[in-house]
Amino acid sequence: MLDLQCPVCSSPLFRLRSGEIWCVNCQKRVVIVREGERFLTAASDILLSSLEETLLEKLRELDQAMRAEKDIAKLGELSSVLSNLLDNLERVRRISRRR
Ligand SMILES: [Zn+2]
Repeated sequence: MLDLQCPVCSSPLFRLRSGEIWCVNCQKRVVIVREGERFLTAASDILLSSLEETLLEKLRELDQAMRAEKDIAKLGELSSVLSNLLDNLERVRRISRRR
């Protein structure tokens, strides 16, 4: 048993002999992402695909907002949000692929 909890159901996680981290309750593999000193227990399949969906939805909204926006300053704000969303989407997809 590891000192970590499942991001979906908060059950304690186990490390398999193969090195994979497993949630017995969800019957899902869990990926641990190290971020500086902090351990982020990211994402079973459910969580990752939900995140990807959310990001894509926000990107669609942003696309429409940018299309309608005439104010240059506001466009600047929107494009910095766009850049963050795209970074996050790329990260989510990278984690998904790793499994
Ligand atoms: Zn779980």
